[in-house]
Amino acid sequence: MGKPTGFTEYPRELPPDRPPAERIRDWREFHLPADGELLQKQGARCMDCGVPFCHAGIELNGAVAGCPLNNLIPDWNDLVYHGLWREALDRLHKTNNFPEFTGRVCPAPCEGSCVLGINEPPVTIKTIEVAIVDRGFEEGWVVPEVPAVRSGKKVAVVGSGPAGLACAAQLNRAGHRVTVFERDDRIGGLLMYGIPNMKLDKSLVQRRVDLMAGEGVIFLPGTEVGKDYPADRLRREFDAIVLCGGATQARDLPIQGRDLQGIHFAMEFLTANTKSLLDSQHRDGAFISAEGKDVIVIGGGDTGTDCVGTAMRHGCRSLLQFEILPRPPMERAPDNPWPEWPKIFRVDYGQEEVAAVLGRDPREFCIMTNKFIGDAGGHVTGLTAALTEWVKGDNGRLIPREIPGTEKVYPAQLVLLAMGFLGPENQLLDQLGVDKDARSNVKAEFGKFATNVPGIFAAGDARRGQSLIVWAISEGRGAARECDRYLMGKTTLP
Ligand SMILES: Cc1cc2nc3c(=O)[nH]c(=O)nc-3n(C[C@H](O)[C@H](O)[C@H](O)COP(=O)(O)OP(=O)(O)OC[C@H]3O[C@@H](n4cnc5c(N)ncnc54)[C@H](O)[C@@H]3O)c2cc1C
Ligand code: SF4
Repeated sequence: MGKPTGFTEYPRELPPDRPPAERIRDWREFHLPADGELLQKQGARCMDCGVPFCHAGIELNGAVAGCPLNNLIPDWNDLVYHGLWREALDRLHKTNNFPEFTGRVCPAPCEGSCVLGINEPPVTIKTIEVAIVDRGFEEGWVVPEVPAVRSGKKVAVVGSGPAGLACAAQLNRAGHRVTVFERDDRIGGLLMYGIPNMKLDKSLVQRRVDLMAGEGVIFLPGTEVGKDYPADRLRREFDAIVLCGGATQARDLPIQGRDLQGIHFAMEFLTANTKSLLDSQHRDGAFISAEGKDVIVIGGGDTGTDCVGTAMRHGCRSLLQFEILPRPPMERAPDNPWPEWPKIFRVDYGQEEVAAVLGRDPREFCIMTNKFIGDAGGHVTGLTAALTEWVKGDNGRLIPREIPGTEKVYPAQLVLLAMGFLGPENQLLDQLGVDKDARSNVKAEFGKFATNVPGIFAAGDARRGQSLIVWAISEGRGAARECDRYLMGKTTLP
């Protein structure tokens, strides 16, 4: 423990973000880096508690508490306090292949279960994490590590999101020849084409992919397994397969007017935006523009927020974000105690930008869309929505009920559907004969990651449903370990 009295001396302090009115004029990251002195003080706040819940990674009350990667957080907090950055980087890479991603976009369940957080603001774990790895890259400490010995085994990883990348990195480390198949034209899954550039700069994703290629991982972008590359060929040519294709089936809103033009799934909007940005700085015009439009985003999660931030950068005229659930409390509710993930009201970057530039937080809570309205040309012009209350249904579960007399018309020339995802696509799973569970995800027990077909494993959103980057990395590592055990009869992978 660096400084026993650190947590009594220093308050929690984060580096400032770029001001909202400035940052919506470009696509650069909105977080600014922290300086060394600030980080040292923040590291000193860690109490190195006897039982550090921050790295537990256990599910409590339906959400994760602590880091799913079991990052050795007190260790690196202490090393940062002592200025031992290289040692901190080594500790960090022991458990996390890609801290530059989690340190930017993880919601930080570690901080929700930090012991200091019982009665004080928690340690700034995520900020310290990203500073360690950014420094590591700046100093040139992160270099390709080519395995000394090759096993002679070939593994196919289907999907190049964080699960597939982590799995490939670990299997390559164990000496196997790994090929990562990706149907998109760029590698990275939702790291590349889901999360927008202002949250995670795409050059950082490419930097890690290049590093892995330097270590011997083979990447095949633009190759959809099951279509461009037949499933039986994959089975013939590889000794094992790991399915990391994500949970890409979006939840639809099949109400009146759904077929009007101008109503899009969030991923259509976000993917086209990033692709056009990377291909041509938007000069090709190959994206769905929110410029000058009244925009309504239906869905209050991360995906919805990314639509909000993107529409703001296009220069939308007005913006609303609808959430069917009630507004969370400002403080932990009595049935949501520490060390559970705090289910509290948060203002994310997108909402902060709307509030600063358009004058109010865009969110409407307890609101349900009833129908879309269009003009004679078939374009959406608005929607009707009503307020709801949550009441107990016949089976005792809470269900939304419309409050009579609250229905209103809301103008919109662009509506974005960000209501979550329903699981992986079926085509390849059916071709491979892989079973699905009751939630239509790939059936493979957590910890074993093996499907019903010998030699085929699954990890990430494809197995657990739409989740978090940190879980995807954790599962990719776990599936690599089990795949290595299957191939070699034993494993030394963590
Ligand atoms: C808009 C958005 C924002 C998000 N923001 C955050 C955030 O801020 N923080 C956070 O922690 N999580 C966030 N998430 C969730 C997070 O991105 C996912 O949980 C994570 O990316 C899952 O990783 P994965 O590797 O399992 O799948 P994915 O990242 O979905 O990658 C799967 C890849 O497999 C490819 N693929 C599928 N089938 C095939 C096939 N047959 N052949 C070849 N390739 C195939 C797909 O094209 C895709 O690229 C966000 C999700 C979305 C949609
Ligand atoms: S990966 Fe996420 S949960 Fe783990 S230490 Fe980093 S910010 Fe915390």
